[in-house]
Amino acid sequence: MISVKDVTVAYGELVAVADVSFDVPPGFVLAVSGPSGAGKSSLLWAIAGAVPVRSGKVVVDGLVIADRPSAAAHGVVLIPQGNGLARVLTARENLSLPLLTERKPAEDVERVIEKSLTDVGLAESGDHLVEELSGGEQQRVAVARGIAQQGKVILADESTSELDGTNRERVVDLLRAEAHRGAAVVIATHDSTVADSADGHAVMDEGRLTWVRRL
Ligand code: ADP
Ligand code: ADP
Repeated sequence: MISVKDVTVAYGELVAVADVSFDVPPGFVLAVSGPSGAGKSSLLWAIAGAVPVRSGKVVVDGLVIADRPSAAAHGVVLIPQGNGLARVLTARENLSLPLLTERKPAEDVERVIEKSLTDVGLAESGDHLVEELSGGEQQRVAVARGIAQQGKVILADESTSELDGTNRERVVDLLRAEAHRGAAVVIATHDSTVADSADGHAVMDEGRLTWVRRL
C-alpha cells in the first residue's frame, strides 16, 4: 500500500507537486495523466525517494520513505522515463544489476530474468547491447527490468510512450499482472487508452491532482 500524504515537491521556488494526497492499495493500478511539466515525474520520484519531499510524507506499508535506499528496501521499483538503462551493457545484464544483492539462488534469479524478457517479447534479445536496440525495445527492457524486481510498488513513468499498439497492450497487461500479484501500481501516462485501463485515474496540472475516476 502506498500512502501519499500532503506531499509537496519543490525545486527552489518552483513547486512541482503541490500538497498531493492519495492511497493506492495492493492490487490496484492508478493512472496519472496531465500535460508535460505538470509534476507527474516528480510525484513518482517522491514515491521512489529520488527527490526529497519539502513537506508531507510517502508511506509504503507503514514505513516512511526517506530516500532512494529506503524506497528500494521497501520494495519500491521505478521504471523511469527515458528508461535509465546502461547503454553499453546487454539487456540481460541490465535486468541482473538490481538483482545482484538478492539472497536467492542464482538459478531462481536467472529464471525471473528470462521470464521477464519473454514477457516483454524480447526473449531473443537478452545478449544484445542496449545501444543496439530500438527505442521501443529499450523501453520494453526497462519494463522487464522493473517487473523482474517483483516489487511491492511499481512506478511506471511513460513506459509505453514509444510502443506500438500490440506492445503497449502487452506492457499494460504486465503492469496489471503485477497488481494481481499484489503490487500497488502507479502509471504516469499521456495515453488515454492506458489511463482508461487503470482502476483509478487522476489528472495533474501545475502540481495539483484532480480525480477523473477515484480508486
Ligand atoms: P516530461 O516529458 O515529463 O515533461 P521533462 O522534459 O520535464 O520530462 O524532464 C526530463 C528530465 O529533465 C527530467 O529528468 C528532469 O529532471 C529534467 N528537468 C526537467 N525540467 C528541468 C529543469 N527546469 N531544470 C533541471 N532539470 C529539469
Ligand atoms: P511531468 O512529469 O508532468 O512532465 P515533471 O515532474 O517532470 O513533470 O516536472 C514538473 C516541473 O518541475 C516542471 O516545471 C519541470 O521543469 C520542473 N523540474 C523537473 N525536474 C526538475 C529538476 N531536476 N530541477 C528543477 N526543476 C525541475
